[in-house]
Amino acid sequence: MNNKELADLIFPNAKDYTYYESKYPERNLPEGAIVTRFAPSPTGFVHIGGIYQSLIAKLMAKNNGVFFVRIEDTDQKREVEDGVKQIMDALKDFDLSPDEYIDENDVNHGNYGPYKQSLRKEIYQSYAKKFLEEGNAYPCFCTPEELDEIRSNQEKAKERTGYYGKWTRCRNMPIDMAAEKIKNGDPYIIRFRSPGNPEKKIKHKDVIKGNVDFPENDQDIVIIKSDGLPTYHFAHLVDDHLMRTNMVIRADEWLASVPLHLQLFYVAGFKAPKYAHIAPMMKTDGEGKRKLSKRKDPESAVSYYKEEGIPKQSVLEYLMNIANSNFEIWRKQNPDKSMYDFNFDIKKMGVSGALFDMVKMLDVSKNVISKFGTEEVYNNAYNWAKEYDEELKEMLDQKEYSMKVLGIERGNSKPRKDIAKWSDVKDNIYYMYDEKFILNEIDYQFQKITDSEEIKNLVKTYFEKYYDENDDKQVWFDKMKDLAQEFGYAREVKEFKANPEKYPGHVGDVSTVIRVAMTGRCNTPDLYEILKVLGKTSIERRIEKLLNN
Ligand code: GLU
Repeated sequence: MNNKELADLIFPNAKDYTYYESKYPERNLPEGAIVTRFAPSPTGFVHIGGIYQSLIAKLMAKNNGVFFVRIEDTDQKREVEDGVKQIMDALKDFDLSPDEYIDENDVNHGNYGPYKQSLRKEIYQSYAKKFLEEGNAYPCFCTPEELDEIRSNQEKAKERTGYYGKWTRCRNMPIDMAAEKIKNGDPYIIRFRSPGNPEKKIKHKDVIKGNVDFPENDQDIVIIKSDGLPTYHFAHLVDDHLMRTNMVIRADEWLASVPLHLQLFYVAGFKAPKYAHIAPMMKTDGEGKRKLSKRKDPESAVSYYKEEGIPKQSVLEYLMNIANSNFEIWRKQNPDKSMYDFNFDIKKMGVSGALFDMVKMLDVSKNVISKFGTEEVYNNAYNWAKEYDEELKEMLDQKEYSMKVLGIERGNSKPRKDIAKWSDVKDNIYYMYDEKFILNEIDYQFQKITDSEEIKNLVKTYFEKYYDENDDKQVWFDKMKDLAQEFGYAREVKEFKANPEKYPGHVGDVSTVIRVAMTGRCNTPDLYEILKVLGKTSIERRIEKLLNN
């Protein structure tokens, strides 16, 4: 018996691989266009790192390239039912929908599918058959016990573990004997026959990591498991070859597999893609750093951002900062451009893991939200509240008033930056609603002026004598100075600073009294605008509440 006959015995029905070669031809794309992919396992947990990878992939493919998603579900133990939907929904939520993919109903969108590994079994078998025919693979009958024995012998001899070289048992089994066992019904898997010599080095030029040398691979890794499905390594070869990927962007935990992968491509006679290995996102933990962890860090889950109400734009902007540190400066210079206009350079990505810093992300988010129009803020906050906060929803149900509240200091050259996430909104606008403010106990945050008689007098005088809602901002402010002066405070901060002993305080201290009396807080957006939005009735109620306090 020869290799061809053995291959026929193992895969009698597999099509010749050339069938797939012509079914999935080279893509007809302009020179330099990148074909890349995101290849998640549908485990039911979508990690923020997946969004990061997809963003990078999308940026790379933006010039006439292709970004596709391939579902890697060959480890059927880890799968969950709606895993694919969760992944596709997350990508959609972040505006990262791929050009080609499979949907939750197993409908393929694109000409290079199926984009789900469990639906590609026949394809892998055709390629495994090619490997068998060419003598580059062989059936292995070793039982788990035998593999354990090999391992313990290697440990005793202080040698590398694995199935390679002199340690293999089935690599050199005569074909006839293997055929006999197969006919007998002995269980087996298919292994790669590695031609490698670890004394020799291979050179790899990673798009991100740069030049890395490795010893050649000599492991006869499993390519087809006992369930007939491929291992990651073999599926990577077959899929990225047939889907015509020319740049594999993936997590750097795969870097160590590069010598094996290059060897597989070489032995198969296919052109290997370029590889770009992304460092993981890190988190500070005590003194050190560690990978952002699914178990320990809620922010590692994509669902976290939705629940907290952190807008997708903020997350993406932040991820851009991590990916290319010069993005931040570019953004300052180009506040209104799409991030796809940024000249993203994958080579500038960090070789080691960047810190994933929520404080920084929320900072970025404040800037992002500050550029939103009132309607956009309202709609986002409302949609978030509908799902997560009934009380806020009820407040926002008063749409006209809420639009005025959210419109304070928005749309001007120095917009308010107090909202980082939709879950902040309630706290930021709570005091503007009479049903919340008037009926609740308020802990007034008076600052410098704390004497309650003085406070009451200032408030009464201000609203009786000075405040007029028709005043423009300048007149309004002059009147605040008049009030300060009437009570013996300095009209200007600088006057006060020049002679601090002469005054009990200045105009700022006086306006703080008005601010706190009206809102309970010492930090709010512009008081002039707040008073306008509150209007006469609400102001009167608030004066009364304070006087009775
Ligand atoms: N399914 C693999 C993973 O989730 C994909 C790695 C790759 O992109 O090739 O790690």
